[in-house]
Amino acid sequence: MTITHQTPVIIRRISDLRDNHITLGLFCLECDRWGEIEPQSWLAEGKPDLNYVEQRFKCNQCGGRATKQVRPEYTGLGTGTAYVGK
Ligand SMILES: [Zn+2]
Repeated sequence: MTITHQTPVIIRRISDLRDNHITLGLFCLECDRWGEIEPQSWLAEGKPDLNYVEQRFKCNQCGGRATKQVRPEYTGLGTGTAYVGK
């Protein structure tokens, strides 16, 4: 019997987002508006170890607190056929 040890995926830092191909979506309830954090631009500013979980992102329009949502990197719509008719 083989026992496989799985390493948990911990996504806490900006570099983790990059390494796991994940982007961070931000939503402002007040404005009903979505935004997205680009890990690349944070990395370019030399903040790979920044803990985004602790960050409080503000909406740049109303100044309200934005809600975070971790998302897989967008790779475009699939070209496969999802539904087959008769
Ligand atoms: Zn807002």
